[in-house]
Amino acid sequence: MKILVINAGSSSLKYQLFDMDKETVMAKGLCERIGIEGSQLKHQPNGREAITISKSMKNHADAIKMVIDALLDVNHGVIQDMGEIAAVGHRIVHGGEYFSGSVVIDEKVKAAINECAALAPLHNPPNLIGIEACQEVMPGVPMVGVFDTAFHQTMPSEAYLYAIPYELYEKYKIRKYGFHGTSHKYVAQRAAALLNKPIEDLKIITCHLGNGSSITAVKNGKSIDTSMGFTPLAGVVMGTRSGTIDPAIVTFLMEKENLSLKEVNDLLNKKSGVLGLSGISSDFRDIEAAANEGNKRAQLALEIFEYSVRKYIGEYAALMGGVDAVVFTAGIGENNGVIRKRILKGLDFMGIKIEEQKNNIRGKEIDISTEDAKVRTLVIPTNEELMIALDTKKLVEQ
Ligand code: ADP
Repeated sequence: MKILVINAGSSSLKYQLFDMDKETVMAKGLCERIGIEGSQLKHQPNGREAITISKSMKNHADAIKMVIDALLDVNHGVIQDMGEIAAVGHRIVHGGEYFSGSVVIDEKVKAAINECAALAPLHNPPNLIGIEACQEVMPGVPMVGVFDTAFHQTMPSEAYLYAIPYELYEKYKIRKYGFHGTSHKYVAQRAAALLNKPIEDLKIITCHLGNGSSITAVKNGKSIDTSMGFTPLAGVVMGTRSGTIDPAIVTFLMEKENLSLKEVNDLLNKKSGVLGLSGISSDFRDIEAAANEGNKRAQLALEIFEYSVRKYIGEYAALMGGVDAVVFTAGIGENNGVIRKRILKGLDFMGIKIEEQKNNIRGKEIDISTEDAKVRTLVIPTNEELMIALDTKKLVEQ
């Protein structure tokens, strides 16, 4: 069975075609500048040279047509007939309180995604456009929606409600939703497989540390709390986002710096985090390089980031009444052994102990704990696209 996974943004569209019999990627690529001058498609058939095709794409339907043409092309294609694509899985950012799992897309589902657009105005509308473009170009092919928020819908109300007037939750659905759910779910499942134990018996803390970062407490296979909140601004310190701060800082800054709503929003989302602290970059590689050269603010930025992640590990171990495994994933979590080691500093009292040599290995699933460690520390490369394809396969086979 072949499944196409689509991640549609406002002017971009990423895709991967999976052969689900082998769970391998046949081809992947990216359409850029959709609806803007200079649009192009970058297409990478597995094991062959990547190509770039520059052609006008007026809208997302044009982009999907180009993707299908590339997949069918005699030179760089990977399938002979569009009919080979059994289903399409769509990444959708916000499912609000409507979706606690992936679903086959119908008109009702589309209406619900549209309703959730108020909660994710930059993401849900293009996600919906991507769905409709696929439906136009591939009529009759089943489509599945996989939501970033769905995995966290199992959180209990004490975890997801904020202590603001309850009516505001009822009126605007202001609550914690959490994000990166597909990634947290994938790595938690892989952790259980690696440990050879049923996920229902495990307490796992998953640390997705990338440009955006979030930590999740996964108890018995369910998300019981996560660090991001109503929006992806909350939680740990990130590349450009502040993470959780005292909310009074917002009004204080607006008054003192005479900032508009948009300006204060940009300040917290785009100019804060390790970028704001270091004044150097949002990329951890640049900050590490500067820190190694003795730059004090870069050192401070790293320490504050590590401290904020460490606090969540302690918090979630307390909430779950213990922890069996801590999992690191995403750009920093998968690649940066130095930061992993520093995050875990002082946690040996909890039974977390890592082995230096194993901690230096990259790019594969690995248990980096010492043999005698009570808590397993795992590095697991995330694969959100595969998770979307797996969910899609499961739903269309039913
Ligand atoms: P996004 O949230 O945009 O998907 P990623 O998961 O790709 O982000 O993470 C980006 C971060 O990961 C950057 O700060 C970068 O420094 C870090 N990173 C990515 N690759 C490496 C690497 N090979 N070594 C160290 N850090 C890396």
